[in-house]
Amino acid sequence: MTITIEDISTFCKKKGFVFQSAEIYGGSSGFFDYGPLGVELKNNIKNHWWKRFVQSRPDVVGIDGSLISNEKIWEASGHLTGFSDLLVECVKCGKNHRADHLVEDAIKKPMDGIEAEEINNLIKKHQIKCPNCKGDFKESKSFNLMFPVQVGADKTKDSTYYLRGETAQMIFSIYKNIIDTARVKLPFGIAQIGKAFRNEISPRDFIFRVREFEQMEIEFFIKPEETKCQFLESKHKNFKFNFLSESNQNQNVEEKEVKMSDLISDKLLGEWHAYWLTESFQWFLDIGIKKENLRIRQHMADELSHYSSVTFDIEYHYPFGWKEIHGNANRGQFDLKQHMEHSKKSMEIHDQETNTKMIPRVIEPSWGVERTFLTAIIDSYVDDEKRGNIVLKLNPKIAPIKLAVFPLVNKLNDNAKEVYDLLKEDFVSTFDKGGSVGRRYARADEQGIPYCITFDFDSLEDKSVTIRDRDTTEQIRVKIEDLTIKISNLLKGTEKFE
Ligand SMILES: [Zn+2]
Repeated sequence: MTITIEDISTFCKKKGFVFQSAEIYGGSSGFFDYGPLGVELKNNIKNHWWKRFVQSRPDVVGIDGSLISNEKIWEASGHLTGFSDLLVECVKCGKNHRADHLVEDAIKKPMDGIEAEEINNLIKKHQIKCPNCKGDFKESKSFNLMFPVQVGADKTKDSTYYLRGETAQMIFSIYKNIIDTARVKLPFGIAQIGKAFRNEISPRDFIFRVREFEQMEIEFFIKPEETKCQFLESKHKNFKFNFLSESNQNQNVEEKEVKMSDLISDKLLGEWHAYWLTESFQWFLDIGIKKENLRIRQHMADELSHYSSVTFDIEYHYPFGWKEIHGNANRGQFDLKQHMEHSKKSMEIHDQETNTKMIPRVIEPSWGVERTFLTAIIDSYVDDEKRGNIVLKLNPKIAPIKLAVFPLVNKLNDNAKEVYDLLKEDFVSTFDKGGSVGRRYARADEQGIPYCITFDFDSLEDKSVTIRDRDTTEQIRVKIEDLTIKISNLLKGTEKFE
């Protein structure tokens, strides 16, 4: 049975992962609140990423930039003019639709980067009508996606600020402060996790396309002429994955398996880009996403963002098609040059080796937190007919709750509670004494809890408990005094379940 995005949103609501924001007032389209399990899963994803790409790397430093920012930043970055989608308004009901999605849905072809004139022609040619009322459309027009904010009491020409449209510009605008204070040396990266806002014309597909979302992003700065990447090892070059090139897309050919070194030798990308693309892909595998559901797609020349010369997306095979979960852009010197011109402040770095000044070029790996969240849920969602419940086979590293502790019967509550108290210091755990053990297993499966621990009558004698594995339902007996080490190793994957 194939799952739909509706199944997933219903499940996420029922289990307390995600709710539509302001639901009691009818809901706000494109905005979501995360419940008790959702916030834990989200935090685990972000913490795993931060540990990997910031805390474990001597060459990357972290920042946390302001959400509301000066108009000048967005003027320089090109967002006030270039950050927009085409919309078409219905003559009859007045509803606005995102033009590319409208045409995409009607003729089942991707419309990324399409121009206004072509959209108008396609709407006429295929006689596309308003999905709301079957009315006709006016000519398409450009709609800017930035959210303006009025700052302070006086309305002056400088009092319009913006909710940030991407986290990247906080990195480019703080870049000079980091150079002056953090003792960084090229090549180095600045990373950030945080919210960004886009006034989407029509949010859709649950938490996939929303108006408020979170990014995990690195801007990695390299000497402009440097083409060799000192981190590129054979594990990167030999990395195999499904790839959809620009020419595959032009010829309507499916993706095929390639090695990263093929892309380098075909000059589709440089070594630094190849390195970051592999590291980014590998991270998805490390949090448990199945490789067969992932592919890399090269951006078509006409869909590239205004700041990028080459972009590769990592895409996931969602119930609603292959969609971007990661963007890996070669931003070149675009942003630093723009900020240098607009702020009149130097963005140059002094290179001691050659005693010259330079503006670094930039590779930008960028992940969406909500899209990673959605991907992790879909990828691990199993409707187990034999068990009669959903099993959420989340990787233990990101599972919101790691352990559930049960007393076999109520008489053993106090004993089981002692085990729970011992474990909760080290692991996010829950104590469940409600209903039959079978019912409690089912509840734990649906919450994605990797291990359930039961205290039974034998435990009083042998000072041991039963651990049950979520994915296989296998059980093992472990001494209570060995539990902490055993669980810790199981969660890390350094010990087998036996
Ligand atoms: Zn209409």
